[in-house]
Amino acid sequence: MTRYFEIEQRDGAARIGKLLLSSELLTPCILNTAELGNFESPGPVVDAGSFWGTKSQAELEARVNRIREKAGNGTLILLPHQAYPPAIPAESVGKEKTFTSINSEKPENEGPTGSLLRKGRKFEKTDLYVIEGAGNLENNARRFLKTVIDLKSQIPPDTALYAPNLALPENIAMLAYLGIDILDDTRAEIAAYSDIYLTAAGSFYLDSLTEFPCRCRVCAATRPAEVRKLSKIERSKLISAHNRDALEAELSLVREKIRAGALREYVEGQCRVRPWLTALLRLGDFEYSYLEERVPAFRQNQLLADTSEALSRIEVVRFAQRVQERYTPPDLDILLLLPCAARKPYSTSQSHQKFILALGKYRKFIHEVILTSPLGIVPRELELTYPASHYDTAVTGHWDEEEKAWVSGCLEAYLSKYRYKAVVAHVEGAYREICERVASKLGIEIVYTARESLVSMEALSNLKNTVESLCTAENFSKKSLNAEEGKRIS
Ligand SMILES: [Zn+2]
Repeated sequence: MTRYFEIEQRDGAARIGKLLLSSELLTPCILNTAELGNFESPGPVVDAGSFWGTKSQAELEARVNRIREKAGNGTLILLPHQAYPPAIPAESVGKEKTFTSINSEKPENEGPTGSLLRKGRKFEKTDLYVIEGAGNLENNARRFLKTVIDLKSQIPPDTALYAPNLALPENIAMLAYLGIDILDDTRAEIAAYSDIYLTAAGSFYLDSLTEFPCRCRVCAATRPAEVRKLSKIERSKLISAHNRDALEAELSLVREKIRAGALREYVEGQCRVRPWLTALLRLGDFEYSYLEERVPAFRQNQLLADTSEALSRIEVVRFAQRVQERYTPPDLDILLLLPCAARKPYSTSQSHQKFILALGKYRKFIHEVILTSPLGIVPRELELTYPASHYDTAVTGHWDEEEKAWVSGCLEAYLSKYRYKAVVAHVEGAYREICERVASKLGIEIVYTARESLVSMEALSNLKNTVESLCTAENFSKKSLNAEEGKRIS
């Protein structure tokens, strides 16, 4: 429990918080590395230094106490540390120096602190934790993700997590999405001094630019050709100012996306800038439990499912799982499979209105289930729930193999669990292919009521006649939907 960090809003593992220090820091935030080393007039966060080098324990201890005396409890002190690259195995890091505690005899010394965190190692209780060697994990999606998840499971949920030496405008969204609260400008500064111009869409060498794709004060006032004529030091100062602006602008956008509950959609697009970021998105979905316990069960905003990764998105997988595990269908003998509609809820769409009209008085004897990508199957009773009534997706009429396999899998699992006396499918194209696949796999018979157009007079009257003949057959038991009120997904 920390008094110095407060979380205000969440979107999945990402969160907006504030560090309650001499000046309040809104997180996710970017620390200025130059200010981190300023012991004389300390800012809100100060790094007391490393044991690497010549400093002794006593010297560093004296420094910490000096900073605390000078700055009071408004400054968070990153305690002296001895970091190793993550490639060095834990057993080889035996004799490292650790800084246990500051002089806590004086009550004014009980201010906020941060400490270095290494997987599997004992750690001090502090208000902020620094991922050891985070910068070395760039481009290693598997290892980075594992490190973040392991460390998150060790530290209290209300403490801040800092990934140093990693932030670039292109990766801030993904780092925040995975649960990182604090970043710094190290990489952006190094880039500036190497003539590398940063944007959220990737980095550019100054030499390769004809115009600046940014309208910050620096970029609006000059052009790349002019900047190239400047001395190295002047050039670097200008690029540094832009890089810093680019970080802050992206950070603001990410915080807005968190507030809007739309960070996932943004990350699905933004991660294409670099392969390791795309890998993080995909691998993150495999870590179902880490994200599932953090992703809200309900949102008010739209869920955009425009990428192939939408199929593995937590909300989608969770909905499909709950339909399989928690949902009990009404006790009806006839199943009608229908295609989804762009308009939500489906029953308000023109096509579904026509289907409903065709079913007429027999509708109450029929269980309607809608086939859709990416949700799989949506029983009619659940069409108003999240995300069934909230998603939108690009409709091209073309289904790729992954979508077909996913929806077939959902339908197959459902029909293996629940058997109907008759299954009717008013579908065409890929939907029909899915139904045929499942029918042949399970050895069940499906009656198809449409060939091409689903809303043609012929198709609709075919649907009507098929349903009518099923419902008026001699062996048909007249169980109706009305008797099944109350059976809903939990
Ligand atoms: Zn700029």
